[in-house]
Amino acid sequence: MNSTGQFDGVFITKQKRSAVCIKIQAQLIEVHFDNEVKTFEISKLDISLGGNKNNLMYFNLKNDQDQSFYLHISTALFRHLGQFSNKKYKNILQARKADFRRSVVSVGTVLIGILVLFGLLSALKKPIVDKIANSISLDVEHALGEQLIKVYLPPNKVINNKEINEQFKLLLIPLLNTYEIKKDIQVYISSDSDLNAFALPGGYIVFNSGLLLASESAEEVLGVAAHELAHVTERHVLRGIIQSGGLFLMVQTLLGDMTGVIAIIMENSSQLLSLSFSRDHEMRADEVGFTHLVEAGIDPRGLTQFFERLKQKESGTQKKYQDYLQFISTHPMTQDRIDKNKLRYEELSYDIKNNILKQQFNYKDFKTLLKQ
Ligand SMILES: [Zn+2]
Repeated sequence: MNSTGQFDGVFITKQKRSAVCIKIQAQLIEVHFDNEVKTFEISKLDISLGGNKNNLMYFNLKNDQDQSFYLHISTALFRHLGQFSNKKYKNILQARKADFRRSVVSVGTVLIGILVLFGLLSALKKPIVDKIANSISLDVEHALGEQLIKVYLPPNKVINNKEINEQFKLLLIPLLNTYEIKKDIQVYISSDSDLNAFALPGGYIVFNSGLLLASESAEEVLGVAAHELAHVTERHVLRGIIQSGGLFLMVQTLLGDMTGVIAIIMENSSQLLSLSFSRDHEMRADEVGFTHLVEAGIDPRGLTQFFERLKQKESGTQKKYQDYLQFISTHPMTQDRIDKNKLRYEELSYDIKNNILKQQFNYKDFKTLLKQ
């Protein structure tokens, strides 16, 4: 319809409103009704913008206030009006352009505002997470872990065999002795064939029997344990929970409502808990874990060996080792990490390397016990 300069519009009189077709020419405007055509001279019309967001173009008859008509503004209409040198059309085009610019500016202002706010919140994210984490006491963190362990480790899965647990403790004790929070650390074995281990806030570490059976040496298990413990001591799990709380927690923190923040975390921790870690946290956990292993006189290469061995097996035909991907997915072991771990070992002094003891623990026997 509009390619010929005709546009759908509405004609208004005191009695009624009619849908019409409006044909715009240089000096005349024709209004086509169903069975009638009215012609108006532009010079006898007042033309103005109106409606919501100035989306309508109004035509008022100068000598008859009771009749008027309007059009919906479209790009086609503007293109059409642009071809005439009529002053009234030009004024309308200019008014509309200014209006458009204003709306672009205001949309732009809002967008910039959002970006600034977003940038500000992103920049503040770490300090806010820090602030929340710092305001959570070790006691609260422990209570949080106590609550979470019930969800993540159902009691019927916990291996309660006294001999197994004693042996496992014997294996871990040299490492555990290097931690200040030693008394808070609680290690469980879960009867679960999935190859995984995880840490919860407050010192809870869970090893799946699947991971223990896939390990081949005490050093490998100790390497995994040191890595998991670092996620605890560095409060990575806690930070993950806080971060998942998102904007709401951040705003509450900015408002200074720390009691509310802690209550929200406590109430929603199981939904907020993510057992996977960022690359930075993985690197950091390797680094901290490495230090504890060396301090305990344990060969710190176990974790990397564990990963590399499983990876090799996974690429072979032994299908069950594909399960290790679960551990990889929560603790992504990148080549970067492997290289860094190797470098850390190479950089140890001769004396320190000499201090590293071959573990006397008979891991093979432990596995036999666990299999029963
Ligand atoms: Zn990790």
